[in-house]
Amino acid sequence: MAKELRQIAIYGKGGIGKSTTTQNLTAGLLELGKHIMVVGCDPKADSTRLLLGTLAQRTVLDTIREIGDDVALDSIMKNGFKGVKCVESGGPEPGVGCAGRGIITSIGLLEQLGAYTDDLDYVFYDVLGDVVCGGFAMPMREGKAREIYIVASGEMMALYAANNISKGIAKYARKSGVRLGGIICNSRNVDREIELLRAFAKELNTQLIYFVPRDNVVQRAEINRKTVIEYDPNCRQANEYRALAQAIDQNTTFTIPTPMTQERLEEILLEFGLMDAIEEKNYSI
Ligand code: ADP
Ligand code: MG
Repeated sequence: MAKELRQIAIYGKGGIGKSTTTQNLTAGLLELGKHIMVVGCDPKADSTRLLLGTLAQRTVLDTIREIGDDVALDSIMKNGFKGVKCVESGGPEPGVGCAGRGIITSIGLLEQLGAYTDDLDYVFYDVLGDVVCGGFAMPMREGKAREIYIVASGEMMALYAANNISKGIAKYARKSGVRLGGIICNSRNVDREIELLRAFAKELNTQLIYFVPRDNVVQRAEINRKTVIEYDPNCRQANEYRALAQAIDQNTTFTIPTPMTQERLEEILLEFGLMDAIEEKNYSI
């Protein structure tokens, strides 16, 4: 019997830890023997460097720009840690054109070249999530990724972005069948962060699927261009990523999110004392 392919998009505010978390949880799934392709959908093109152990791979858009449309699959898809397949869609020159187009072009080309093979268990799309417009919504809009996880933390801007992304999911849910699988908290050591994220997830009609602690081993692994699981397989953080991988592998809770108003979001933040913390630090909002 053919396996069921799970196509998952990871969204979240820039810098929140999407690429780090995606690659580390992918390493956890690879250890479980899963077959995976990771498609970077961020013009930064750094969604696969920890899995590949290289500086940066040539992006799909750069390859097309250089050699035209007649591209061989192995020039845009490289094998990384435990055989994971890695693709970076790339983006246009800064300031020129819509970055989302890279995603549309890349997925189309990957389909044409037969990259979505029957042996795959997972495809992950690591998507820049500050804007849920046009091209960036592509993986969910076109029904490619049916399952979404949002990476967030207890910081206001991360939650603000998560709520916005949920609006996008809710918008496309009926037509494309896309569902939210949960919020991954990538901790910023905010006070009462786990309680805040649980309350936020509940209000959004979803779950906090995992709480990933902040740990400097992530940076040490990153400098060595490795996931934590490859760099230091016995450390505590490696086990956190393994547990996140398990939680996603076994997840059965998929919902249409119920985004909240800005007022309600601020009310929840107030309830957990976050606004006080912001005022104390003299941040302007
Ligand atoms: P994004 O892909 O969302 O833009 P990145 O994955 O590039 O974000 O992460 C931004 C930075 O945060 C990276 O330099 C990474 O090392 C760091 N980081 C991410 N998650 C953790 C964590 N759990 N603990 C410590 N540092 C982290
Ligand atoms: Mg990234």
